[in-house]
Amino acid sequence: MLTKDTAICIRAVDYSETSQILTFFTRDTGKIGAIAKGSKRPKSSFGGPFEIFSYGKIVFAESNKDKLSTLTEFDPSFGGAGFSTLSANLFTLNCCLFGAELLNKLTHDYDPHPQLFDDFLQFLQNAGEGSNNFETLTLLILFQLSLLKETGLQPVLSHCVNCKTRHDKQDKRHEIYFSSSVNGLICRDCEAAFPDKIRLSPNTANCLSNLKLLTNAREKTLIEIEKLLTYHFTETLGHKPKMAKYILQL
Ligand SMILES: [Zn+2]
Repeated sequence: MLTKDTAICIRAVDYSETSQILTFFTRDTGKIGAIAKGSKRPKSSFGGPFEIFSYGKIVFAESNKDKLSTLTEFDPSFGGAGFSTLSANLFTLNCCLFGAELLNKLTHDYDPHPQLFDDFLQFLQNAGEGSNNFETLTLLILFQLSLLKETGLQPVLSHCVNCKTRHDKQDKRHEIYFSSSVNGLICRDCEAAFPDKIRLSPNTANCLSNLKLLTNAREKTLIEIEKLLTYHFTETLGHKPKMAKYILQL
């Protein structure tokens, strides 16, 4: 059975002299693994080898769910240029590669998330236009939060997970913590019962409970939020994401 979909390549590895094995995140099918036979041949019908973030319409032959699909057609969007501008800025590229790594690790094959696809596409488009590293970091943070939400892992950022006291009802000078094991904020009165946690500055906690503040956040706050998310993804996945180390050395 042939399936048509819109797809972004989130991983590309060489399979042979002429073929590649690709991981696509598609809008309506979810993540798929596919072999692109002959994609590296000079006269490939795909228009040349695939690169990470190649984007366009694909047609593929679905196979047994444990096996690779076979890519039969690729019609690139943006005249084939894809997101080639992303590599003009190394930090931007690393942020996008980090996003792709997390997307790959937190989604399952054939589990569609159209909203997450749209968010990822928007993230890549905006990152390609980003004017400085902190704007790009803000985009990454928003994408990471969207990824957590769309995969059912949305952290509780408006109130203490334990006693339910709303963050905006608490004295802003009070300490606040984030615990990965309970997936949310823990207030000063409850923190002793939760050994697994990191302490947040008041600015960071305010930003997390009201994401509109993120666009005007100070650099220090953005870095603290990214540290928190990296800790959270590390705990969730059981290992540190590979790309994390390239992000937090701004
Ligand atoms: Zn509490």
